[in-house]
Amino acid sequence: MRQELICITCPMGCRLVAERTGEGELVVSGNRCPRGAAYAREELFAPKRTVTATCRVSRPCAGDRSCAAAETASQALDAPRRVPVRTSAAFPKDRVPELLARLYELEVELPVERGAVVLADALGTGIDVLATRSLK
Ligand code: SF4
Repeated sequence: MRQELICITCPMGCRLVAERTGEGELVVSGNRCPRGAAYAREELFAPKRTVTATCRVSRPCAGDRSCAAAETASQALDAPRRVPVRTSAAFPKDRVPELLARLYELEVELPVERGAVVLADALGTGIDVLATRSLK
């Protein structure tokens, strides 16, 4: 097996070549530093990606007329209906569709602060999903 990759760990963008030896060992060349070899191993055996998405938001209702008033046409049209989110760390690539499905069914109650955890321990990975914008 021979695979060419571009290391995206830093702006140098080294062109890597990963080859598996007869003994099953992975040999990486073209990297200017050890992080390139680590990147190639991860990319080939357990690729991960930072995931960004948006989630629906809900506004708390006080159960009185002010709630109904808040839903007047102008306010409802001007208010953001989704909050942008991202994972707190790179997420297993093969589980990204499952995570996105979970995020698209999630409803985040306002107000929410930038950096707040909107989904803890996403899919049991230990990775949180954070709001990237404050919304009231
Ligand atoms: S191998 Fe090292 S120097 Fe090259 S892009 Fe990766 S991190 Fe940067």
